[in-house]
Amino acid sequence: MIIGSHVRFNQEQILGSVKEAITYGANALMLYTGAPQNTIRSEINLDYLNEARKLMVANDISIDNVICHAPYIINLANKERIESWDFSIAFLKREISRCETLGIKYIVLHPGSSVKHTKEEGLNNIIEALNLIVKDENNCMILLETMAGKGSECGSNLDEIKTILDHINSKNIGVCIDTCHLNDAGYDMAKFDEFLEEFDKKISIARIKCVHVNDSKNPLGSHKDRHENIGFGSLGFNTILNIVNNEKLKDVPKILETPYVCDIDKPKELSYPPYKEEIAMLKSGIFNEHLLDDIRANHK
Ligand code: FE
Ligand code: FE
Ligand code: ZN
Repeated sequence: MIIGSHVRFNQEQILGSVKEAITYGANALMLYTGAPQNTIRSEINLDYLNEARKLMVANDISIDNVICHAPYIINLANKERIESWDFSIAFLKREISRCETLGIKYIVLHPGSSVKHTKEEGLNNIIEALNLIVKDENNCMILLETMAGKGSECGSNLDEIKTILDHINSKNIGVCIDTCHLNDAGYDMAKFDEFLEEFDKKISIARIKCVHVNDSKNPLGSHKDRHENIGFGSLGFNTILNIVNNEKLKDVPKILETPYVCDIDKPKELSYPPYKEEIAMLKSGIFNEHLLDDIRANHK
């Protein structure tokens, strides 16, 4: 099973990210090349990169299973302020070259929110922008993430994702499916084989390069996008286990983006990453209903 979680990217950059992933027993990871909320990015430090590469070899982490995520504020769908739209395009071009330096092959991107535009205009703006960014010669591929359909989000159904992909002049672009988002968008993850069949007919399973594995705090079709710990939400453990063990996606990295677990006594100040325990639970195939308490206890 190729599985990991999103990890931090701090002073030690990718070296710190890899070290964190190793503590979770992961053989995959996802990082932002800076803070997820902003676009401030520092130069890639090649010493840390070299150290990270050695550590990855020693711990069986392939660079193919290291994923980058673009910051949330990048929005290719909204052209109201043309400077912001231009900035998003320029940022993504720079992000691709940063990833090429790191050897990272995939950047997950939220397609964008149309805001005051119609959905159709939003999709056209995304297509226009991506045609300026996505090139056959890029060594790093953008992956469009399937969204929950919160607010004016584009890409919350397979037809919208297909529309975007069909209008990009290069095939050097793929898809990241997010199980929480799909549930919230109205795709029943308990019928995952049916979903994959529909995906294959419309888009092709071969274009899925990453799976975000999250449970959801909200019911099917709620359009909310609030992630829950594995087995504690509306998808449930068996549905998620079935997805991570799907034979057709066995070579695709699975990335957890589940919430940190709050301390009982100091919930506002202390919270703990659940990834080590969630990865172990998914590998074991057995649900642990006391998982969240165990995580708290492991940090005492
Ligand atoms: Fe995302
Ligand atoms: Fe996600
Ligand atoms: Zn989400």
